[in-house]
Amino acid sequence: MSTEQKSKGPWIHRFSIRLFTVILAILVYWVLGFLVEDIESIEGPQYGEIEKTYVDQELVSKHKELESEIAEVDRSIKNKRDEMKIVSDSSRNLQETINQLIELQKITVQKSASLPEKEQATLSASLAHFIESQKQYQALNTELSRLTENRRTLESEKRAKEKEIERQRQPAREEYRELSEKHNIRLACLQLLVLIPLLAVGAFLVVRKRSSIYFPLFLGFGVATLLKVTLVIHEYFPTRYFKYVLIIGCLIAVVKILIHFIRVVAFPKAQWLTKQYREAYERFLCPICEYPIRTGPRKFLFWTRRTVNNVVLPKNAPEEQAYACPVCGTALFEQCPECHKIRHSLLPHCQHCNAEKEIEECTDKAIDSDKE
Ligand SMILES: [Zn+2]
Ligand SMILES: [Zn+2]
Repeated sequence: MSTEQKSKGPWIHRFSIRLFTVILAILVYWVLGFLVEDIESIEGPQYGEIEKTYVDQELVSKHKELESEIAEVDRSIKNKRDEMKIVSDSSRNLQETINQLIELQKITVQKSASLPEKEQATLSASLAHFIESQKQYQALNTELSRLTENRRTLESEKRAKEKEIERQRQPAREEYRELSEKHNIRLACLQLLVLIPLLAVGAFLVVRKRSSIYFPLFLGFGVATLLKVTLVIHEYFPTRYFKYVLIIGCLIAVVKILIHFIRVVAFPKAQWLTKQYREAYERFLCPICEYPIRTGPRKFLFWTRRTVNNVVLPKNAPEEQAYACPVCGTALFEQCPECHKIRHSLLPHCQHCNAEKEIEECTDKAIDSDKE
């Protein structure tokens, strides 16, 4: 297999592709949202209409009448209370006047003189007034208690009507609930009827055209439709069922991803293998068994994956030589057949003459080391 790799392009282009993939997904999601909204705007059952067929309309109007009557009585009660307050204020004033006059009379009697004519007249007039206003107050009070009684009767009548209406409303609510449920299911079916074919197209493109250069396009489209379908299902179907759909979907996805990675590890593609070998060579560890590669200046040193960068190398380095891992026997450095210098055995190109060597896709050693 050739190790020729696809050019990745400058980072700004790669970044743009990612950015516009996301924007595309958002726009697709938006368009789907409009579609779904339009379907949702189909009118469902009207509660008012249903209630009319179940609830006695005469009862309802009677109830309304009672309500307005009660409001009227409330207003009257308030007026009466205001009037009573005025009357009681004025009689309190009169009482004070009378008290003062009586006090005055007492003093004059002690002086064995009689109250002047004018004061005497005022006193009798005040007394007459006082008695009159007391009478008025009593009358108002009687009126008020009559109104309160009246209000109580109206109130209990209204409550009885309310109870009756409530009883009649029960089946109306029931029917409305059933009709709404049916309507919602119809809406959900319509929406899914539009969305599922789009999702199928998206899934087909994502799965089948994985190696196409236009893959980001398909991915954006597929992800947006998948998200919208999930949300629609979540909105209309009870959580009880939805959680099973969701968990099964997640299970399938996780199992697929797991299988993918297990296969990648078990049967590495040359590209991944090169990546793994490269990382191992960079740390001077055997790519197959991770035993340190003790060649050249590192011959007498020790390091691990973590400490590799802290190792101080001796100054006078011996000449490079062919080298095989003493643990697993894999050839790690060998003579290049083209230029006869020492090259990496497991990397595709010679560092001196650029001669290419094939990296096997799946080595027996990879499987053997798994078996051990
Ligand atoms: Zn080894
Ligand atoms: Zn070479």
